[in-house]
Amino acid sequence: MMHRFGTPSQKEQFMEGMMTGAVRMGFGLTEPNHGSDATWLETAGVRDGDDWVINGAKRFNSGLHAATHDLIFARTAGDPGKADGVTCFIVPTDSPGFEIPFMWWTFNMPTDHAEVSLTDVRVPNEAILGEEGRGLALAQTFVHENRIRQAASGVGAAQFCINESVKYARERTVFGKPLWLNQAIQFPLAELQTECEMVRNLVYKTAWELDQQHHMEVTDKVSMCNYRANRLVCNAADRAIQTHGGIGYTRHMPFEHIYRHHRRYRITEGSEEIQIRRVAGIMFGKKAKR
Ligand SMILES: Cc1cc2nc3c(=O)[nH]c(=O)nc-3n(C[C@H](O)[C@H](O)[C@H](O)COP(=O)(O)OP(=O)(O)OC[C@H]3O[C@@H](n4cnc5c(N)ncnc54)[C@H](O)[C@@H]3O)c2cc1C
Repeated sequence: MMHRFGTPSQKEQFMEGMMTGAVRMGFGLTEPNHGSDATWLETAGVRDGDDWVINGAKRFNSGLHAATHDLIFARTAGDPGKADGVTCFIVPTDSPGFEIPFMWWTFNMPTDHAEVSLTDVRVPNEAILGEEGRGLALAQTFVHENRIRQAASGVGAAQFCINESVKYARERTVFGKPLWLNQAIQFPLAELQTECEMVRNLVYKTAWELDQQHHMEVTDKVSMCNYRANRLVCNAADRAIQTHGGIGYTRHMPFEHIYRHHRRYRITEGSEEIQIRRVAGIMFGKKAKR
């Protein structure tokens, strides 16, 4: 986002630190009352001379255990429910009024997902990233890049789970014969292998398309990759646990961790339902006209 939308002086100020790790930025879009419906967010930014004053709250703000800055999305104009009028501000996490009341206790620990409260947080006008009022377009670019990245990582982790299960089933003897001889062991893994092949090819094709044209032109394909790969890896990790039996359930094997890690992606960066809604929106909705 910084590379694509930062002003020359913002790039000068932040880019090198972002690469060395001296600067780390969180992404604060979700709020206690709004997640999927980010256009309804309630955090507000009000202009005061050369500054903006921000009030509101953010939830599940990842990376805040170490972030030096947070990208805070706040409504600066327009009506609730409208995409236009939401602005993205680069807010230093040590700003007066920027508080982290607690971290959320989640399925995948340790947590870095913060609750954030903003009380009269003051930032200069130069803290706006991208255009004033067009913050959600920035967010859309960010989630598209994350959605395809997650899909690729899901396919890779799913393939690992399948490969490890095949290896184990070939080595393990149960009832005096190799485990793999049972079709009840083979068939679910063969089905996963088939799905993995299909999703991998859709990820390759969509990633290629993302390089050729504006990301919104393939927004439905990105969504398809994302939700199917996230589901696939959860199913593959679950199957790997089952194929390995008791040892698969332990933390001495990687599968429960893979499950915990990727289960999150069925909710974040736009949940599964929101991805499906996007696909349907292209098929039936206003976007279909394009
Ligand atoms: C571990 C973790 C890390 C996160 N990191 C960040 C972060 O760094 N920054 C950030 O801004 N946010 C972050 N989030 C928040 C995440 O993006 C939201 O949780 C997500 O967008 C869903 O919003 P919600 O939790 O408010 O659910 P809601 O929007 O309340 O939805 C509840 C359920 O209803 C479904 N649903 C909603 N609308 C529809 C519909 N129209 N049709 C059918 N079903 C629907 C949803 O899919 C979901 O299953 C994180 C969340 C988690 C769990």
